[in-house]
Amino acid sequence: MARRPTWRPARLAEVRRETGTARTLRLEVPGWPGHLAGQHLDLRVTAEDGYTAQRSYSLAAPADGDSVELTVEQVPDGEVSPYLTEVMEVGDEVEVRGPVGGWFVWRAEGTAPVLLVAGGSGIVPLMSMIRARRRAASRVPFRLIYSLRDFGGRYYAEELRRPDPGLDVTYVYTRTPPEGWRRPAARIMLDDLAEGGWPAGFEPECYVCGPTGFVEAAADLLLALGHAPQRIRTERFGPTGG
Ligand SMILES: Cc1cc2nc3c(=O)[nH]c(=O)nc-3n(C[C@H](O)[C@H](O)[C@H](O)COP(=O)(O)OP(=O)(O)OC[C@H]3O[C@@H](n4cnc5c(N)ncnc54)[C@H](O)[C@@H]3O)c2cc1C
Repeated sequence: MARRPTWRPARLAEVRRETGTARTLRLEVPGWPGHLAGQHLDLRVTAEDGYTAQRSYSLAAPADGDSVELTVEQVPDGEVSPYLTEVMEVGDEVEVRGPVGGWFVWRAEGTAPVLLVAGGSGIVPLMSMIRARRRAASRVPFRLIYSLRDFGGRYYAEELRRPDPGLDVTYVYTRTPPEGWRRPAARIMLDDLAEGGWPAGFEPECYVCGPTGFVEAAADLLLALGHAPQRIRTERFGPTGG
Protein backbone atom coordinates (compact mmCIF):
# COMPACT_ATOMS: atom_id res chain seq x y z
CA MET A 1 0.00 0.00 0.00
CA ALA A 2 1.28 3.51 -0.83
CA ARG A 3 2.62 5.39 2.20
CA ARG A 4 0.63 8.49 3.14
CA PRO A 5 2.76 11.58 2.50
CA THR A 6 3.66 13.62 5.57
CA TRP A 7 2.41 17.10 6.42
CA ARG A 8 4.88 19.83 5.55
CA PRO A 9 4.86 23.53 6.44
CA ALA A 10 3.97 25.77 3.49
CA ARG A 11 4.65 29.52 3.48
CA LEU A 12 2.71 31.89 1.24
CA ALA A 13 5.27 33.51 -1.06
CA GLU A 14 3.11 35.29 -3.67
CA VAL A 15 -0.52 36.03 -4.46
CA ARG A 16 -2.15 36.75 -7.83
CA ARG A 17 -5.80 37.71 -8.12
CA GLU A 18 -7.62 35.80 -10.88
CA THR A 19 -11.18 37.14 -10.43
CA GLY A 20 -13.20 38.97 -7.79
CA THR A 21 -13.61 35.69 -5.91
CA ALA A 22 -10.51 33.65 -6.73
CA ARG A 23 -6.80 34.01 -6.26
CA THR A 24 -3.66 32.04 -7.04
CA LEU A 25 -1.35 31.28 -4.13
CA ARG A 26 2.29 30.38 -4.60
CA LEU A 27 3.48 28.40 -1.60
CA GLU A 28 7.04 27.52 -0.66
CA VAL A 29 7.09 23.95 0.66
CA PRO A 30 10.58 22.85 1.76
CA GLY A 31 11.17 19.26 0.62
CA TRP A 32 8.18 19.13 -1.76
CA PRO A 33 8.70 15.87 -3.68
CA GLY A 34 7.32 17.11 -7.03
CA HIS A 35 4.07 16.17 -8.76
CA LEU A 36 2.38 15.35 -12.04
CA ALA A 37 -0.03 17.63 -13.89
CA GLY A 38 -3.53 16.92 -12.61
CA GLN A 39 -2.63 15.91 -9.06
CA HIS A 40 -3.84 17.72 -5.97
CA LEU A 41 -2.74 18.19 -2.37
CA ASP A 42 -4.36 18.28 1.03
CA LEU A 43 -4.10 21.60 2.82
CA ARG A 44 -4.56 22.00 6.58
CA VAL A 45 -5.16 25.24 8.47
CA THR A 46 -4.85 25.48 12.24
CA ALA A 47 -6.61 28.14 14.31
CA GLU A 48 -5.04 29.74 17.38
CA ASP A 49 -7.06 27.44 19.66
CA GLY A 50 -5.65 24.38 17.87
CA TYR A 51 -8.78 23.62 15.79
CA THR A 52 -7.79 22.29 12.37
CA ALA A 53 -9.61 22.02 9.03
CA GLN A 54 -8.37 20.26 5.93
CA ARG A 55 -9.39 20.55 2.25
CA SER A 56 -8.15 19.31 -1.15
CA TYR A 57 -6.74 21.73 -3.76
CA SER A 58 -5.48 20.95 -7.24
CA LEU A 59 -1.96 21.92 -8.18
CA ALA A 60 -2.27 24.67 -10.80
CA ALA A 61 1.21 24.45 -12.32
CA PRO A 62 3.95 21.87 -12.84
CA ALA A 63 6.41 21.30 -10.04
CA ASP A 64 9.02 24.05 -9.69
CA GLY A 65 11.49 23.05 -7.00
CA ASP A 66 9.90 23.73 -3.63
CA SER A 67 7.22 26.02 -5.09
CA VAL A 68 3.64 24.95 -5.69
CA GLU A 69 0.69 26.97 -7.00
CA LEU A 70 -2.98 26.64 -6.12
CA THR A 71 -5.97 28.65 -7.31
CA VAL A 72 -8.77 28.87 -4.81
CA GLU A 73 -12.36 30.01 -5.39
CA GLN A 74 -14.15 31.51 -2.45
CA VAL A 75 -17.19 29.43 -1.44
CA PRO A 76 -19.66 31.74 0.35
CA ASP A 77 -19.88 30.73 4.04
CA GLY A 78 -17.06 28.24 3.55
CA GLU A 79 -14.68 27.52 6.38
CA VAL A 80 -11.32 27.37 4.59
CA SER A 81 -11.64 29.04 1.16
CA PRO A 82 -12.49 32.56 2.50
CA TYR A 83 -9.31 32.42 4.59
CA LEU A 84 -7.23 31.43 1.55
CA THR A 85 -8.82 33.97 -0.79
CA GLU A 86 -9.16 36.99 1.53
CA VAL A 87 -7.23 36.70 4.77
CA MET A 88 -3.97 34.79 4.34
CA GLU A 89 -1.01 37.10 3.73
CA VAL A 90 2.44 36.61 2.25
CA GLY A 91 4.59 35.03 4.97
CA ASP A 92 1.68 33.19 6.65
CA GLU A 93 1.93 29.41 6.98
CA VAL A 94 -0.39 26.45 6.48
CA GLU A 95 0.48 22.76 6.10
CA VAL A 96 0.22 20.65 2.97
CA ARG A 97 0.43 16.96 2.23
CA GLY A 98 0.88 15.38 -1.17
CA PRO A 99 0.90 14.98 -4.04
CA VAL A 100 -2.37 13.04 -4.16
CA GLY A 101 -3.98 11.19 -7.10
CA GLY A 102 -2.58 8.95 -9.79
CA TRP A 103 -5.36 8.58 -12.38
CA PHE A 104 -6.34 12.15 -13.24
CA VAL A 105 -2.88 12.99 -14.58
CA TRP A 106 -1.33 13.87 -17.93
CA ARG A 107 2.24 12.84 -18.63
CA ALA A 108 4.36 14.69 -21.18
CA GLU A 109 5.28 11.34 -22.83
CA GLY A 110 1.62 11.06 -23.96
CA THR A 111 1.02 11.06 -27.70
CA ALA A 112 -2.81 10.97 -27.97
CA PRO A 113 -4.63 14.26 -28.60
CA VAL A 114 -6.08 15.73 -25.42
CA LEU A 115 -9.49 17.21 -24.70
CA LEU A 116 -9.82 19.23 -21.51
CA VAL A 117 -13.30 20.12 -20.28
CA ALA A 118 -13.47 22.55 -17.37
CA GLY A 119 -16.41 23.79 -15.33
CA GLY A 120 -15.57 26.89 -13.26
CA SER A 121 -12.65 26.29 -10.90
CA GLY A 122 -12.27 22.86 -12.53
CA ILE A 123 -9.88 24.67 -14.87
CA VAL A 124 -7.14 24.46 -12.20
CA PRO A 125 -5.70 20.94 -12.77
CA LEU A 126 -6.32 21.30 -16.52
CA MET A 127 -4.23 24.48 -16.56
CA SER A 128 -1.48 22.48 -14.93
CA MET A 129 -1.66 20.09 -17.92
CA ILE A 130 -1.55 23.00 -20.40
CA ARG A 131 1.49 24.42 -18.61
CA ALA A 132 3.18 21.01 -18.42
CA ARG A 133 2.66 20.57 -22.17
CA ARG A 134 4.24 23.97 -22.84
CA ARG A 135 7.13 23.33 -20.49
CA ALA A 136 7.88 19.98 -22.15
CA ALA A 137 7.56 21.56 -25.63
CA SER A 138 5.14 18.71 -26.36
CA ARG A 139 3.50 18.71 -29.77
CA VAL A 140 0.45 16.81 -28.57
CA PRO A 141 -2.57 18.86 -29.70
CA PHE A 142 -4.76 20.08 -26.83
CA ARG A 143 -8.29 21.43 -26.97
CA LEU A 144 -9.81 23.15 -23.95
CA ILE A 145 -13.52 23.75 -23.49
CA TYR A 146 -13.98 26.08 -20.51
CA SER A 147 -17.50 26.54 -19.18
CA LEU A 148 -18.16 29.39 -16.78
CA ARG A 149 -20.87 31.81 -15.77
CA ASP A 150 -19.56 35.03 -17.24
CA PHE A 151 -16.61 36.71 -18.92
CA GLY A 152 -15.25 38.17 -15.67
CA GLY A 153 -15.03 34.71 -14.12
CA ARG A 154 -12.17 33.51 -16.33
CA TYR A 155 -9.04 32.31 -14.54
CA TYR A 156 -5.66 32.67 -16.29
CA ALA A 157 -7.31 34.96 -18.85
CA GLU A 158 -4.09 36.61 -20.08
CA GLU A 159 -2.18 33.37 -20.33
CA LEU A 160 -4.94 31.58 -22.23
CA ARG A 161 -5.15 34.47 -24.69
CA ARG A 162 -1.47 34.22 -25.60
CA PRO A 163 -0.74 32.16 -28.73
CA ASP A 164 0.21 28.59 -27.82
CA PRO A 165 0.53 26.53 -31.03
CA GLY A 166 -1.47 23.33 -30.78
CA LEU A 167 -3.76 24.62 -28.02
CA ASP A 168 -7.32 25.64 -28.97
CA VAL A 169 -9.55 27.26 -26.37
CA THR A 170 -13.35 27.48 -26.52
CA TYR A 171 -15.37 29.35 -23.90
CA VAL A 172 -18.91 28.38 -22.97
CA TYR A 173 -20.88 30.94 -20.91
CA THR A 174 -23.77 29.71 -18.82
CA ARG A 175 -25.18 33.06 -17.57
CA THR A 176 -23.79 36.25 -19.13
CA PRO A 177 -21.75 35.96 -22.33
CA PRO A 178 -19.78 38.95 -23.56
CA GLU A 179 -21.59 41.28 -25.98
CA GLY A 180 -21.96 39.89 -29.45
CA TRP A 181 -21.11 36.31 -28.41
CA ARG A 182 -22.67 34.03 -30.98
CA ARG A 183 -23.67 31.24 -28.57
CA PRO A 184 -26.61 31.92 -26.24
CA ALA A 185 -26.00 31.48 -22.49
CA ALA A 186 -26.62 27.83 -21.62
CA ARG A 187 -25.04 24.91 -19.85
CA ILE A 188 -22.59 22.82 -21.81
CA MET A 189 -24.22 20.77 -24.55
CA LEU A 190 -23.47 18.19 -27.19
CA ASP A 191 -22.66 20.75 -29.90
CA ASP A 192 -20.06 22.45 -27.67
CA LEU A 193 -18.18 19.19 -27.23
CA ALA A 194 -18.65 18.18 -30.87
CA GLU A 195 -17.38 21.53 -32.21
CA GLY A 196 -14.74 22.41 -29.61
CA GLY A 197 -13.49 18.88 -28.98
CA TRP A 198 -12.08 16.01 -31.03
CA PRO A 199 -14.01 13.40 -32.99
CA ALA A 200 -14.15 10.15 -30.98
CA GLY A 201 -12.37 8.40 -33.86
CA PHE A 202 -9.20 10.37 -33.02
CA GLU A 203 -9.17 8.53 -29.68
CA PRO A 204 -8.33 11.58 -27.54
CA GLU A 205 -7.63 11.39 -23.83
CA CYS A 206 -10.44 13.36 -22.19
CA TYR A 207 -10.10 15.10 -18.81
CA VAL A 208 -13.21 16.58 -17.24
CA CYS A 209 -13.10 18.61 -14.03
CA GLY A 210 -15.52 20.81 -12.11
CA PRO A 211 -18.49 20.59 -9.76
CA THR A 212 -20.03 17.10 -9.57
CA GLY A 213 -23.13 17.95 -11.67
CA PHE A 214 -21.02 19.52 -14.41
CA VAL A 215 -18.63 16.56 -14.54
CA GLU A 216 -21.44 14.04 -14.80
CA ALA A 217 -23.24 16.00 -17.52
CA ALA A 218 -20.07 16.54 -19.57
CA ALA A 219 -18.93 12.93 -19.22
CA ASP A 220 -22.38 11.70 -20.36
CA LEU A 221 -22.17 13.96 -23.42
CA LEU A 222 -18.71 12.60 -24.28
CA LEU A 223 -20.06 9.05 -24.02
CA ALA A 224 -22.98 10.03 -26.26
CA LEU A 225 -20.44 11.30 -28.81
CA GLY A 226 -18.80 7.87 -28.82
CA HIS A 227 -15.75 8.48 -26.62
CA ALA A 228 -14.63 5.31 -24.84
CA PRO A 229 -15.25 5.32 -21.06
CA GLN A 230 -11.63 4.34 -20.32
CA ARG A 231 -10.43 7.49 -22.09
CA ILE A 232 -12.65 9.82 -20.03
CA ARG A 233 -10.96 10.81 -16.77
CA THR A 234 -12.95 12.84 -14.29
CA GLU A 235 -12.23 14.87 -11.16
CA ARG A 236 -15.11 16.16 -9.03
CA PHE A 237 -14.64 19.30 -6.93
CA GLY A 238 -17.26 18.40 -4.36
CA PRO A 239 -17.00 19.47 -0.73
CA THR A 240 -13.99 17.96 1.06
CA GLY A 241 -12.66 17.99 4.56
CA GLY A 242 -14.28 16.76 7.73
C1 LIG B 1 -9.77 16.64 -5.63
C2 LIG B 1 -10.30 18.04 -5.32
C3 LIG B 1 -9.62 19.14 -5.80
C4 LIG B 1 -10.09 20.43 -5.52
N1 LIG B 1 -9.42 21.48 -6.05
C5 LIG B 1 -9.90 22.74 -5.85
C6 LIG B 1 -9.24 23.85 -6.45
O1 LIG B 1 -8.24 23.72 -7.18
N2 LIG B 1 -9.75 25.09 -6.20
C7 LIG B 1 -10.86 25.28 -5.40
O2 LIG B 1 -11.26 26.44 -5.21
N3 LIG B 1 -11.49 24.23 -4.83
C8 LIG B 1 -11.04 22.98 -5.02
N4 LIG B 1 -11.67 21.91 -4.43
C9 LIG B 1 -12.77 22.19 -3.46
C10 LIG B 1 -12.15 22.42 -2.05
O3 LIG B 1 -11.60 21.21 -1.58
C11 LIG B 1 -13.18 22.88 -1.00
O4 LIG B 1 -14.27 22.01 -0.99
C12 LIG B 1 -13.65 24.31 -1.22
O5 LIG B 1 -12.55 25.23 -1.19
C13 LIG B 1 -14.66 24.73 -0.14
O6 LIG B 1 -14.07 24.63 1.13
P1 LIG B 1 -14.60 25.56 2.31
O7 LIG B 1 -13.97 25.09 3.58
O8 LIG B 1 -14.46 26.99 1.99
O9 LIG B 1 -16.17 25.27 2.37
P2 LIG B 1 -16.90 24.29 3.41
O10 LIG B 1 -16.91 24.92 4.76
O11 LIG B 1 -16.33 22.93 3.27
O12 LIG B 1 -18.37 24.27 2.80
C14 LIG B 1 -19.29 25.41 2.93
C15 LIG B 1 -20.56 25.12 2.15
O13 LIG B 1 -20.28 25.11 0.74
C16 LIG B 1 -20.52 23.82 0.17
N5 LIG B 1 -19.34 23.51 -0.68
C17 LIG B 1 -18.13 23.11 -0.28
N6 LIG B 1 -17.31 22.95 -1.31
C18 LIG B 1 -18.00 23.24 -2.40
C19 LIG B 1 -17.68 23.25 -3.76
N7 LIG B 1 -16.46 22.91 -4.24
N8 LIG B 1 -18.67 23.61 -4.62
C20 LIG B 1 -19.89 23.94 -4.17
N9 LIG B 1 -20.26 23.96 -2.88
C21 LIG B 1 -19.32 23.60 -2.00
C22 LIG B 1 -20.61 22.86 1.35
O14 LIG B 1 -21.44 21.75 1.07
C23 LIG B 1 -21.15 23.72 2.43
O15 LIG B 1 -22.56 23.84 2.33
C24 LIG B 1 -11.24 20.62 -4.71
C25 LIG B 1 -11.93 19.49 -4.24
C26 LIG B 1 -11.48 18.22 -4.54
C27 LIG B 1 -12.24 17.03 -4.04
